[in-house]
Amino acid sequence: MSALAEIRARIATAEAAAGRAPGSVRLIAVSKVQPLDRIEAVLAEGHRLFGENRVQEAAGKWPALRARFPGTEVHLIGPLQTNKARQAMELFEAIHSLDRPKLARTLARLAQELGRCPDLFVQVNTGEEPQKAGVAPAEADAFIAECRSLDLPVVGLMCIPPVNEEPALHFALLAKIAARNGLAGLSMGMSDDFERAIAQGATHVRIGSALFGARAYEPG
Ligand SMILES: *Cc1c(COP(=O)(O)O)cnc(C)c1O
Repeated sequence: MSALAEIRARIATAEAAAGRAPGSVRLIAVSKVQPLDRIEAVLAEGHRLFGENRVQEAAGKWPALRARFPGTEVHLIGPLQTNKARQAMELFEAIHSLDRPKLARTLARLAQELGRCPDLFVQVNTGEEPQKAGVAPAEADAFIAECRSLDLPVVGLMCIPPVNEEPALHFALLAKIAARNGLAGLSMGMSDDFERAIAQGATHVRIGSALFGARAYEPG
């Protein structure tokens, strides 16, 4: 069985265990830093949803791959600087890292200008870690309201739990914030914890190393 088939099977098992409909969880294949041949192998197997965490890196590889593999969707899962916002809006079908008012205002202005906007996930810093992006849990409701007042298409929330804590608690917190704000999307769960994320309601799991193999280095 290929790594892709194995991950798909694990997702299906986790969906069933949680009493969720088959296909209710989307697999984002996190292709950052991976060699092209590994990405092409997953595309050749029919997978069409990928995640990148840098605008520049995605701009370098995805236009050519999209031309060869129609229907491909690429999501930005890493931090976004406002000076790269325009390029990001042109490159990605979704942005999972909306995390501050200045970025929200920039995206809103560009959406007016371009006449469209990718789906947006608000990143929540559930562990309140100083070095990590995302709005604090206590500020999430107000920030989501602000994004909505700017007419931004917020479809869900995203989190990256602290490395040394039980992720399920963070997934549950994210699900609670989403529910009280009427948001259906939950971008949570990575290679080591995606089954636990699915148990807590994840709609998008972001899986890199378990699918492609270890990365040669970690992007900063
Ligand atoms: C790299 C990355 C992932 C994938 O991590 P793995 O542990 O390799 O599955 C998921 N989400 C974000 C935001 C990432 O930067």
